[in-house]
Amino acid sequence: MLVVVEMSVAKIARFPYSFCIMKQVYLNTFGCQMNVADTDRMELVLFHSGYQRTLEKEDADLILVNTCSIREKAEQKTFSLFGGLRSLKVSNPDLILGLTGCLGQQEGEQLLKRMPYLDFVMGPDQVEGIAQAVDRVRSTGEPFVWTGFDHGKVYSIPELSDDLPRAPGPSAFVNIIKGCDKFCTFCVVPFTRGREKSREPEELFGEIRHLVNRGAKEIILLGQNVNSYGKRGLKNAMPFHELLYRVAEIPGLQRLRFTTSHPNDFTRETIRAYRDLDMLMNHLHLPVQSGNNRVLKAMRRDHTIEEYLDLLAELKSAVPDISLSTDIIVGFPGETDEDFEDTLKVMEEVGYSSSFMFAYSPRPGTPASELPDSVPDETKKRRLQETISLQSRRTEQRGQSFVGKNVAVLIEGKSSKPGYIFKGRNPQYWNVNIRGGESLLRAGATAHVQVEQVSGHSLNGRAIL
Ligand code: SF4
Repeated sequence: MLVVVEMSVAKIARFPYSFCIMKQVYLNTFGCQMNVADTDRMELVLFHSGYQRTLEKEDADLILVNTCSIREKAEQKTFSLFGGLRSLKVSNPDLILGLTGCLGQQEGEQLLKRMPYLDFVMGPDQVEGIAQAVDRVRSTGEPFVWTGFDHGKVYSIPELSDDLPRAPGPSAFVNIIKGCDKFCTFCVVPFTRGREKSREPEELFGEIRHLVNRGAKEIILLGQNVNSYGKRGLKNAMPFHELLYRVAEIPGLQRLRFTTSHPNDFTRETIRAYRDLDMLMNHLHLPVQSGNNRVLKAMRRDHTIEEYLDLLAELKSAVPDISLSTDIIVGFPGETDEDFEDTLKVMEEVGYSSSFMFAYSPRPGTPASELPDSVPDETKKRRLQETISLQSRRTEQRGQSFVGKNVAVLIEGKSSKPGYIFKGRNPQYWNVNIRGGESLLRAGATAHVQVEQVSGHSLNGRAIL
């Protein structure tokens, strides 16, 4: 479906298509924040090729599903979504259907065989080429697979002109590193996103300045292992903590966060940065995966649980109000009830404010998938339920510690909770629903909020004006 878009004469002159008649792209994302950032990037690249995002599949000329293969469940959801898209393709043969992301990288040709109505399959390293992929389908009408890695040493995200499909929100992601060199035995990321490569600091500073000048107040530095930033791919090596100090100097930036971290690359200097930089928000997502040393070794995490806990003790003593979150896998091959108890003990001891908890499922091509998947499904389910119950209790306790206090909340938008006007995040990354202040507050403002109650993973409170 074509949509006429109003543009200034200056914009029309820069626009690569000669008219302001835009086609419609529907984008769907599964998986992690890296995938969300990749989808945003594809939206931007496509915008410069004459596509505007639609929220209605039925209106689309192009449908892209950016997939995840880290868990079996994400794959199943993708296949079920494509099952529904098939009828759209039948009723509109001009519709282009593309599958991008990690599942595309991993399964490639198999996906075209399984879903012959797909027009193309692309891996995460081809994000910048999305417009070329669409052009190729339009000109040849032939389905194709475009995967493989960019083997160049440099990781660069080219700057496009000032035109943006939409203004950035108050909180914006910036990719600083891609890929992962850790090769944890359960994980597909090193196979789907390749080896680590960092972006040049100057390019990052330019992108952050650009986002801040257009309204972003908070930047979240993104990567599979951000703490490994600067080790590979830069003209001049720069450690991660130095990047934090340099980003913090950018005028207008109010808040800084990063994710995800690996315990082995998380340095004492980064702990110092938390202490030194007021804008570095007091939250850390530090995956532990298991509380048992034998399981950690089988996962190839390359640290012991004692080392992990020592690191957190040091961090907590430097930054007492830091909140912590983590990833946990239960039912890894060979995990006994006693091993699992160690995970519960660590969860209890650390008191995470939230956890992403999963039952292990073997991922094709990973070393762990060659081990016997020895823990029965029923046991995995029971262990998962126990971690969820424990986490809910600890989340409630952590949340209660905010009740009655005033917290600074960066407002991200409207709250969907009845009776509340805005929602945003406090420094510890809790979602906060806010009542009151409708005439004075707006997205992008920082509100002072008196917390009144905890509701699941959210805090609810009233604006103090
Ligand atoms: S650190 Fe391990 S779990 Fe994280 S992306 Fe790398 S290989 Fe995967």
